[in-house]
Amino acid sequence: MLAVARDRAEIAEARAMIMADTDSLTGLPNRRAFVRNLLEAPRDWQLVLVDIDHFKRINDTLGHVEGDEVLVRIAEIIKGYANERSIVARLGGEEFAIATLAPFDGSGLIDAKDLLHAIRSAAMPGGYRITASIGIARRVICEEQDWKILYRAADMAVYRAKSEGRDRHVDYSGDRIAA
Ligand code: GH3
Ligand code: MG
Ligand code: MG
Repeated sequence: MLAVARDRAEIAEARAMIMADTDSLTGLPNRRAFVRNLLEAPRDWQLVLVDIDHFKRINDTLGHVEGDEVLVRIAEIIKGYANERSIVARLGGEEFAIATLAPFDGSGLIDAKDLLHAIRSAAMPGGYRITASIGIARRVICEEQDWKILYRAADMAVYRAKSEGRDRHVDYSGDRIAA
C-alpha cells in the first residue's frame, strides 16, 4: 500500500513538473523550460524569434477563440521545424522561438524564408491569411546574461522586420552583438 501511494505521489510530481514547463494552449515548452535548456551547457545557438503580424486584429476580427486556434496552428508549424539539433517554445502571447545548435558550416539552420512561406500558406480559421515577422541572432550561451543579450538582438531583428513591412526576416547572426 505504501509503495502504491509513493508511486502515485511520484507520478503526480512528474506531471506537475511537466505542466510547469508546458504552455497549456499549444503544448509547446514555455519560456522557462526553453531558457533552462539553453543554459544547460555552453553552446553556440542560433535563435529564431517568430512574432505573428497584427495578431490583435485577428482577435478583433475573428474572436479570441479563433485567435487561440491560430496560435495552435502556428505552434504545429513551429514544431515541424524542430529537429534533433533544436528546441522550440511559445515564449508568450503570439511569440514563438526556435533555437538551433549552430554548426560551423551553417548546415541544418532554420530556413526563415521557408518558415515564412509555411506560415503564409497555412489554412487558418475563416480562411484568414497569417503572416509573421522573424528575427534571427546567434551567440554562445554560457549564462543568463548571454541569453538576455541573444534575446535582445533577435528581438531587435524582429522589430526591424516589422518596420520594414512585416512578413519577412532580418538576420543578425553574422553580426557581432553588443553586450
Ligand atoms: P505586430 O504586427 O506589431 O506584432 O502587432 P500585434 O497585433 O501582433 O502585436 P501586439 O503586441 O499589439 O498584440 C498582441 C496581441 O496578442 C494582443 C493580445 O491580446 C493577443 N494575445 C496574447 N496572448 C494571446 C492568447 O493566448 N490568445 C489570444 N487569442 N490572443 C492573445
Ligand atoms: Mg508580439
Ligand atoms: Mg505580433
